[in-house]
Amino acid sequence: MTSSSLRRIVVVGGSIAAVTAAEALRVRGFDGDITVLSEETSAPYSRVPLSKGVLCGKETPDSALLPPLDGEVSLRLGTRAAGLRVDRRRVVCDDGDEVPYDGLVIATGARARRLARPGQAGEHVVRTLDDATRLAGRIATAGSVIVVGAGFLGMEVASTCTDLGLAVTVVDRDPPLRRLLGGWLADLVVGAARDRGVRFVRATRAVELAGGQEVTGVRIGDRVLTADVVVSAVGDVPGTGWLADSGLPLRGGLVVDDRCRVAPDIVAAGDVTVSGRPGGEFRRSPHWTSAVIQGQVAAATLLHGEVATLPRPDAYYWTEQFGLDIKISGEIPDGPAPTVLAGDPRERSALLQWRRNGRGVAAVSVNHRMPIVKLKRLGAWASAEPG
Ligand SMILES: Cc1cc2nc3c(=O)[nH]c(=O)nc-3n(C[C@H](O)[C@H](O)[C@H](O)COP(=O)(O)OP(=O)(O)OC[C@H]3O[C@@H](n4cnc5c(N)ncnc54)[C@H](O)[C@@H]3O)c2cc1C
Repeated sequence: MTSSSLRRIVVVGGSIAAVTAAEALRVRGFDGDITVLSEETSAPYSRVPLSKGVLCGKETPDSALLPPLDGEVSLRLGTRAAGLRVDRRRVVCDDGDEVPYDGLVIATGARARRLARPGQAGEHVVRTLDDATRLAGRIATAGSVIVVGAGFLGMEVASTCTDLGLAVTVVDRDPPLRRLLGGWLADLVVGAARDRGVRFVRATRAVELAGGQEVTGVRIGDRVLTADVVVSAVGDVPGTGWLADSGLPLRGGLVVDDRCRVAPDIVAAGDVTVSGRPGGEFRRSPHWTSAVIQGQVAAATLLHGEVATLPRPDAYYWTEQFGLDIKISGEIPDGPAPTVLAGDPRERSALLQWRRNGRGVAAVSVNHRMPIVKLKRLGAWASAEPG
């Protein structure tokens, strides 16, 4: 099928990758039918403020809403894709309805990984607006919280909880943030967290949720820690369950190439995807900017194939926690101290660059205002490198 014979494009997913792809299809001149199928009952929203402003009540849930899709796109909320018939070009919905397509964009993101046993209540996660609203209500009256998982999400939740005056314990098997920020920058952030009273517990054994029917804390071997609230921030699971029998390539996520292609007339974008790296490894890039860029790339590829001009890959992401506004371009190497280009890390305000063979591989601003394009240029080598 060629792009000129694509009349019906179906986008499965209801968040930033799906919305970006739908908008990009129109921007690139597609004038056929676009149908977006989202299992959520809420209009598309951003997850970014959920662990920050929405959780502490500084932002309302409405402020997280994405700008509405324009009227030329049919948005079917509360519609979950349950299966895919590639041979017949149909998405099978959970109510049995089958939605035909000529071209398909898969943007089903990820869901929160959970630790609770079946039937055990009281575990909180932060993935959806409902999750955040529920947790916000709970921490508003709680005195203590345990956060399991010291990645970006767990640390942001911990930060918000310290702002609200809760006693916060963060539990992880690995050193906090190290895998994401490298040892040097992780130490800086963890220092800021400790200054605000966060207690870190290194789990030498598997972490389980403690309590019977209701979660009361966490268990690490023989040791039990209790708190009013327990939040699991232990990663996410790509939303590929509905694709299990589709025959599409799944390797811990839906495999895409550098043009977001999955199969003929099928593309994918966002947190649901994995990309092959040299050495046979498949990696995710579960960040906002990746979802936006992949949404644009997926739309361009679906319409124009090999000849589509694509936006430049962009390894840019950010986090806000413990009074630190951290913007990152590139992949921070673990180990070496960066070059300080401006400011002073001891003051927790600096512009940092990691270099390899004389060229920047990553750049980070910490509480340092500067144009994002300049930050991206300082970390440009890593961003531009494939793999
Ligand atoms: C709390 C939180 C804070 C974050 N903060 C930051 C940040 O500060 N900076 C940053 O760079 N990134 C951040 N991220 C990551 C960023 O939000 C994600 O990378 C981004 O949301 C991915 O978008 P997506 O559209 O691919 O997937 P998702 O946002 O997961 O959306 C997938 C959508 O598809 C729907 N769906 C799933 N399965 C089906 C199905 N079978 N049928 C129909 N619909 C389906 C889902 O309900 C959902 O609406 C944060 C994430 C979270 C959870």
